[in-house]
Amino acid sequence: MTCAEFQQALPFIIDGGGDAKYEQHLKECTICADLVSDLRYIAEQAKLLVPMEDPSPRVWTGIERSLTREGLVKPAQARRGLLGPKLIWIIAPLVLAGVTIYLLAR
Ligand SMILES: [Zn+2]
Repeated sequence: MTCAEFQQALPFIIDGGGDAKYEQHLKECTICADLVSDLRYIAEQAKLLVPMEDPSPRVWTGIERSLTREGLVKPAQARRGLLGPKLIWIIAPLVLAGVTIYLLAR
């Protein structure tokens, strides 16, 4: 089995559905083994992102200040609540998806 064949079946394998031939490739190939362990780690971390409760308002104020300081948002935008608690939970999974795509494209 080639790495390309293995990686085509990745979503299936990461869900724990890999059969013997995939397991064999995983044992022999460090590149694919690293990839699978990275992706499983990301999937685990993504689960932790589900907020149990909203972080303290100080967190949002701190993020807002950093973004304003970096020039990523104008103070007026920040004050309108551009980076509200809801938005950050939309952005976080998108960032994770980006990391996942980056790892898959490596
Ligand atoms: Zn491989």
